[in-house]
Amino acid sequence: MSQRTPIVGGNWKMNLHARDAKQLAEVIAQRVGGLDKAEAVVFPPFPYLLQVGTVLKAASGGLTVKLGAQDCYHESNGAFTGEVSMSMLKDVGVETVLAGHSERRHVIGESDELINRKVRAALEAGLDVVLCVGEKLEQRELGQTDAVNAAQTQYGLAGVGAGQMGRVVIAYEPVWAIGTGRTATPDDAQGAHRAIRGTLAAMFGDKVAQATRIQYGGSVKPSNAAELFSQPDIDGGLIGGASLKADDFVAIVEAASATVAAAVG
Ligand code: PEP
Repeated sequence: MSQRTPIVGGNWKMNLHARDAKQLAEVIAQRVGGLDKAEAVVFPPFPYLLQVGTVLKAASGGLTVKLGAQDCYHESNGAFTGEVSMSMLKDVGVETVLAGHSERRHVIGESDELINRKVRAALEAGLDVVLCVGEKLEQRELGQTDAVNAAQTQYGLAGVGAGQMGRVVIAYEPVWAIGTGRTATPDDAQGAHRAIRGTLAAMFGDKVAQATRIQYGGSVKPSNAAELFSQPDIDGGLIGGASLKADDFVAIVEAASATVAAAVG
């Protein structure tokens, strides 16, 4: 049985405005704050980080729900118009950052090299990192899923020390499943997660690989969360669309928590 604590992230993407963001954070903090078998983190848009962080802190009395940022920049300061540094994020209470989300890879055009710079800079700054990997539909159809995930994991974590891996979470998100309503079957997702854990073992050794959490992302909803999260190598989820509805997000965090309770009981 896995000793890993599942982690569920809510990636709000470029959605919501101040009032809705505050309300959503209030409900999530109240209803998720008491769960102790799973971790939760929300990733609001940059302009609302401070406000959402304040709500989370006040409601749960200690940031049970963590505050995350959807992006970050690897340079510490200077002439980088539009970018946000790690120390700025820490300044407003951010504890964890996403790196390599498929929308940044495939819509914005971020390279593996840039993603790796961000991962290393975030870890050096003391932030946790969620490194997202995943294959496109055409790569899946060519049988390249495991190879793509292995390459993105290797590039993304190049130069990261085994001692830093306790602050890294991998999110396996098949690109064809993100925001499409299509979900990988639990068996397919489990197979991809097991292969990613194998890549981590080759890079950092078995102990680190077994301790590293690998989330699944791609159209997770309350109706499919429990089955996905009960797979042996799936340690919670990264949630897009369903994280914008408090009831759905809370139900998904509860599903993650329940898989631990079932395994223990
Ligand atoms: C995501 O944005 O990481 C994601 C998985 O989105 P969705 O849940 O909407 O597929």
